[in-house]
Amino acid sequence: MTEAAPLPRNGGFDYLIVGAGFAGAVLAERLARDAGKRVLIVDRRPHIGGNAYDRYDDAGILIHPYGPHIFHTNSKDVFEYLSRFTAWRPYEHRVLASVDGQQLPIPINLDTVNGLYGLNLTAFEVESFFASVAEPVEQVRTSEDVVVSKVGRDLYQKFFRGYTRKQWGLDPSELDASVTARVPTRTNRDNRYFTDTYQAMPLHGYTRMFEAMLDHPNIKVMLNTDYREIVDLVPWGHMIYTGPVDAFFDHCHGKLPYRSLDFVHETHPVEQFQAVGTVNYPNDYGYTRISEFKHITGQRHPHTSVVYEYPRAEGDPYYPVPRPENAELYKKYEALTRTRTDVTFVGRLATYRYYNMDQVVAQALATYRRLQGDKAEATER
Ligand code: FAD
Ligand code: UDP
Repeated sequence: MTEAAPLPRNGGFDYLIVGAGFAGAVLAERLARDAGKRVLIVDRRPHIGGNAYDRYDDAGILIHPYGPHIFHTNSKDVFEYLSRFTAWRPYEHRVLASVDGQQLPIPINLDTVNGLYGLNLTAFEVESFFASVAEPVEQVRTSEDVVVSKVGRDLYQKFFRGYTRKQWGLDPSELDASVTARVPTRTNRDNRYFTDTYQAMPLHGYTRMFEAMLDHPNIKVMLNTDYREIVDLVPWGHMIYTGPVDAFFDHCHGKLPYRSLDFVHETHPVEQFQAVGTVNYPNDYGYTRISEFKHITGQRHPHTSVVYEYPRAEGDPYYPVPRPENAELYKKYEALTRTRTDVTFVGRLATYRYYNMDQVVAQALATYRRLQGDKAEATER
């Protein structure tokens, strides 16, 4: 065990970290373990892990209460960093989309096109097929442009338009290209959702990994606590804030849109509910997708648990909404963050970026290096 650092002179904490998700936990870990700082990390939820939190449900099945979280990254640094806190189980996610009465691979690939249209094209021929149906777009700006310029209108309408309208409450033409660009198009038969170098799930789950990160004598964890309840009671030197940026500034420039979801969890008395980890429903039902956890975690159990995702305008903030007017509004809040030299803003909600877990870890590690650099510079001055 590491010796606890002496308390700062005022008896308080060097850092108050708001939010115990990836952004907060990485910074708490680095500041305590690497820099010997005393850290108080608070979360208003009753658990650590943020949206990546997992737990065993009443049936004894490991579930992700906030929707399926699949870890994937191309960053060796991020993977090696997290590997200090968990062993891994290799897992490559596969997704089918329910379209025209069939379940077909998404991202769209050779098998998707052959299955949908009853064709027998080769990889070479499907490339010409895409070229023949693609609608040229002068400048790819929106989420509609990305898809129609690659695979044409029919595939766009069947696989993307309905899903996107449901998920975001907006037409793809109203969203930045970056949203649907997350899902590529393939001419081969690769039916993996991701192609990253590292694809694996924490062997004992995310929560166990977070527990290992935060297990340090210099880190105090306070749950069920909105930071506003304690911010004036507990002395702290610097704050790291990972909640929604507009809430920090009391929505003074108006509400920054975050998309929400309702998660409906079910357990079924069968071993397997569906063929793959996630099935997308672009055109039917109020939900966008159903995910079955045992595929993802590898757990064996006679029963199985699934989650349905119903997109909502109101509720807990889960997704920033990438579109030009929101970027403009975010800029106003970003300008305010620069006036708060006592606070650092990190993570998906605080920097209003549609980041995956690995990107948040990378952002948090970079933030740590910057904080250490700033300190070194201040000492030199
Ligand atoms: P969060 O995890 O949101 O943590 C922020 C924390 O701050 C929360 O716990 C919140 O309670 C707390 N907080 C906020 N305000 C306050 C306050 N006032 N006082 C105290 N605490 C506060 N990424 C992937 O890489 N792969 C996936 O498969 C994947 N699937 C996803 C599925 C869904 C449905 C969603 C919503 C996201 C998914 N993600 C996935 C993204 C992933 O969840 C995020 O990248 C990551 O969890 C963000 O970490 P964070 O620390 O920035 O934010
Ligand atoms: N998308 C779609 N159809 C699909 C899968 C994705 O239209 O079958 C679009 C949709 O707009 C979605 C975006 O692509 O929000 C990004 O998909 P991803 O699976 O990365 O979403 P996430 O897992 O972040 O919710």
